[in-house]
Amino acid sequence: MSSPREATAAAHHASSAAASIESTAESTHDYRKGESRIRRWQVGDVKVTSIMESAEAIPWSPQYPPETAGHWKKYDWLVPRYVTPAGQIIMAVQAFVLEAGGQRIVVDTCVGNSKEREIPHCSGLQTAFLEDMSSAGFPPQTIDVVLCTHLHFDHVGWNTRLVDGRWTPTFPRASYLFGRREWEYCETLLRDKTLDVRHILDSVQPVLDAGLADLVDEHHRLSGELWLEPSHGHTPGHVSLHISSRGQEAIVTGDVFHNPIQIAEPEICSMMCVDKEMSRNTRREMLARYGDKPTRLIAVHFNDPVGHIVRDTNNWRFSSE
Ligand SMILES: [Zn+2]
Repeated sequence: MSSPREATAAAHHASSAAASIESTAESTHDYRKGESRIRRWQVGDVKVTSIMESAEAIPWSPQYPPETAGHWKKYDWLVPRYVTPAGQIIMAVQAFVLEAGGQRIVVDTCVGNSKEREIPHCSGLQTAFLEDMSSAGFPPQTIDVVLCTHLHFDHVGWNTRLVDGRWTPTFPRASYLFGRREWEYCETLLRDKTLDVRHILDSVQPVLDAGLADLVDEHHRLSGELWLEPSHGHTPGHVSLHISSRGQEAIVTGDVFHNPIQIAEPEICSMMCVDKEMSRNTRREMLARYGDKPTRLIAVHFNDPVGHIVRDTNNWRFSSE
């Protein structure tokens, strides 16, 4: 059953998706208001809720290499859910709240509000994300664990919020899990100062300073039902979260796949992939492991985020539910 808020959110989404296909200006406007879309699934006893911060149509390049710009035309199942009829990528940004064994775990925390970023449409956002989380039943103080699959700006944003001019942990009771290897990579970025590190300074460092961070091993086990698996390449310490409950399996894949076209063509890398060859290998391994299997994929940047990897004529495709 949907709450009135969820019904409103669904109606808003229907209108904003149509607008983003027809008009970039309109979609930018909607983006700043946020997506406000809430959806729920179940993996055995584990409940999974998506809180969608945004879902915007963006140009194919530079997100993906320009020479791959026409490849989506080979896959009619991508349109219009994941690629617009004009060939723009629909880039969703969402957090997943897992309810497992009496704990509430947020996986990846989107872009966040009021954060200055290099990418203009991600800078200075003001969305209703936290209100959406609360209306979905998850006020910030009820969150026990935050897991960041990696430490890119669109996965750490709501780790903190601005309170009296200071970046303050949004989830005051939570233990924030960061991969130890990923944090060590961030330390090199902080030393080198060649890339933009503002997201580390405003969304990761304050969590460490508050004593809420837990640097974990890439096979860390959160509970009998939840554990991490290394999925390096997109970043050096990237991890995925495996869910196993009552014979049902799912894997939250972070940024192993940005768009389902990478399920059909795993060699396509996003501009954000740090080690492109390693990211390709990780995608191929995941396709071999989970293709044609009952294990569901839960993908942070997919507009329709939960589904299976199934056989297509010559390769794999994504079948959402
Ligand atoms: Zn991302």
